[in-house]
Amino acid sequence: MAWFLRSKKNIEESQQREMPDGLFTKCPTCSEVIYKRQFEEQLFTCAKCDHHFRIGSEEYISILFDENSFTETDTNIRSTDILNFTDTKPYLDRLADAYKRSDSPDALSIGYGQIGGRDVSFGCMNFDFVGGSMGSVVGEKFYRAVKYAIKHKLPYIMISASGGARMQEAIFSLMQMAKTSAVLAELAEAKLPYISILTDPTTGGVSASFAMLGDINIGEPKALIAFAGPRVVEQTIRKKLPEGFQRAESVMKKWIFRFNRASEGPPPNADTGAGSAVVEVLLIELIVNDSD
Ligand SMILES: [Zn+2]
Repeated sequence: MAWFLRSKKNIEESQQREMPDGLFTKCPTCSEVIYKRQFEEQLFTCAKCDHHFRIGSEEYISILFDENSFTETDTNIRSTDILNFTDTKPYLDRLADAYKRSDSPDALSIGYGQIGGRDVSFGCMNFDFVGGSMGSVVGEKFYRAVKYAIKHKLPYIMISASGGARMQEAIFSLMQMAKTSAVLAELAEAKLPYISILTDPTTGGVSASFAMLGDINIGEPKALIAFAGPRVVEQTIRKKLPEGFQRAESVMKKWIFRFNRASEGPPPNADTGAGSAVVEVLLIELIVNDSD
């Protein structure tokens, strides 16, 4: 049953993958041509203008974790269509499409491994899976990753990239905001650190729950961080928004850290990249301070 029908054309989805399929790609900000090898060496950023391309869990794991130290867990949890939901197409067809188009098991991958020799529990969203939307699978996997951190007394590191809640799961997706926030309260009670890394874009129910609840929140350069995105805000207030509105730099003006993948810290071809160096320093700081 369709709940509503749109008479006008749908708002175009902007979920296209920025990663190059061929030998080179063009920077969407400054039009610089970047060759694939150079692109990987630069940790998927543009050397000329510092544009941070959207990447998924696989790339972040390769940037952050010590070589071969990461184990992915809970890859077999799947969404069900409990509401029998159909919008322009049935939810189950939409999911089947997503599994076909994406290598990711859902919009969140979790696991554990070592960063600079320190054990951590880790979660990373996959924006290419239904716009990184938070449904019951994202909530459950997040819960399990935090529980793993509590059980093994580890810090929890989470990388967010999300268009918000998964509308097709309606109330069940909204409930994940409470579920993830509640388990983070348990992590805090256990006095274990939570580092939240916000990447482009972190919006909707994800920005309104776990992404903003880090003991330390880190933003990637120019990442869109918002509840309602700029297009919706512009349509509502009928005004053009100022340059840089809802970007990491303006949202995080008073915050200290920036997760710059490539242009600060050790050179990108070292064992650990710049962003990973920041996380390592934070881990040392948080663990040392906590044991005082
Ligand atoms: Zn560029």
